[in-house]
Amino acid sequence: MARARSGAWMVIAGALLALLTGVPAAGAADDIADYKRAVETRFAAWLAALWPDAQSAGVSRASFDANLKGLKLNWSLPHLVLPDPAAPGGPPLPAALKEAAQPQHQPEFDVPEGYFKDGTLIGLASQGRAKSAEWHAQLAEIEKRYGVPASIVVAIWGRETGFGKIDAPYDALGAIATQGFMGRRPEEFRKQLIVALKILSAGHATRAQMKSSWAGAMGYTQFMPTDFENYAVDFDGDGKRDIWGSIADALASAGNSLHTQGWDGSKPWGYEVRLPKDFDCTLQGPDQGRPVAEWTELGVARLNPGGSVRGFPPERLDDPAFVVLPAGLKGPAFLATNNFAVLKLYNNSDVYAIFVGHVADMIAANAPVKFAGAWQPVERFSRDRMQRFQEALVAQGYDVGKVDGLAGFKTRQAIGLIEKKLGLPLTCYPNSAVIGAVLKEASAQ
Ligand code: CA
Repeated sequence: MARARSGAWMVIAGALLALLTGVPAAGAADDIADYKRAVETRFAAWLAALWPDAQSAGVSRASFDANLKGLKLNWSLPHLVLPDPAAPGGPPLPAALKEAAQPQHQPEFDVPEGYFKDGTLIGLASQGRAKSAEWHAQLAEIEKRYGVPASIVVAIWGRETGFGKIDAPYDALGAIATQGFMGRRPEEFRKQLIVALKILSAGHATRAQMKSSWAGAMGYTQFMPTDFENYAVDFDGDGKRDIWGSIADALASAGNSLHTQGWDGSKPWGYEVRLPKDFDCTLQGPDQGRPVAEWTELGVARLNPGGSVRGFPPERLDDPAFVVLPAGLKGPAFLATNNFAVLKLYNNSDVYAIFVGHVADMIAANAPVKFAGAWQPVERFSRDRMQRFQEALVAQGYDVGKVDGLAGFKTRQAIGLIEKKLGLPLTCYPNSAVIGAVLKEASAQ
């Protein structure tokens, strides 16, 4: 009896303490510990069950055990989907953890005016020039071997890790395994985990060396394990494909990745252009490519950095090319070659590919080249709202590409088409007039 009463008092005192200080009561902390223990138990079983796939991938049993035994989930990673309950019949997800897992702010997609800061671009290009001089011999050999300009490889290095200065703080295996077990794309990360085990088993890196971002991107040029498997090379000849510790290996691996995926060394990535007045922005995108000469007939002109018009190289007039308008009609316009599409295989984003191409142009020109066009302010929308907008467009029969809350080519095209239909000013970029009109129509149905 006495014991029970003292227990009850402890609970009340704990609750009071929690009220006064915001610290979870002992009971809540116990719930969290119980919950995590149950999830970790399932995680350990999930890891053990990877063995047949790891074995067929060529992972040795000794390496498998050494790397996975006792591996814990990394609960601090962003964007986790915590299981509820922890296991069938197990403890439910405690409220405190549920709250902590909610993003503080709805993510917005990158708007171009914020992505292309003059200071960032100029700073990276100037460091890039210094790095190009420092690594001149290796870069010349990489350019010769893979047909990818040194300036592009260096720009990727700068964009991905600020030339190696940005820490990749996570144990890659722990981060990738956690994403595979309770991330947003478990299938993808399970596949990446098997390859990560293969890399360790083959001895290309030690576990301590194999660091990554929270999303599993590794080394100076931010390769996923499957990128490593497909494209990493041993350039310095020490027998290891070391993208974490060898700058030469990492740069050559980036060059090999672009080369293998179709980079054409005879072509640039693209050109900044001036569009004719009243240009139909729905003509943008890789599915509407035509030779450079045809674009010139439509009035598309190549621009100097200062904004004056210059001709396209005569030998490039037959190249297929397509118009890229990352900010619709509210920003600079570009005519891109297939090399632009290859850059997007590295990181599937128009602004990324233009960023890398532009920094590379500045490195090659040895000058701080500005865009001739201005990135105008655009409205910002949450990905959530963008996604509802895309769903409404799809319901009306438009092709928006992937319904992902982002403003890719297809979505920008669809916006232009519906702006024309509704008689709105043509922008080909998300804006509240078109989003409001489409969502209003959708809710009326
Ligand atoms: Ca090496």
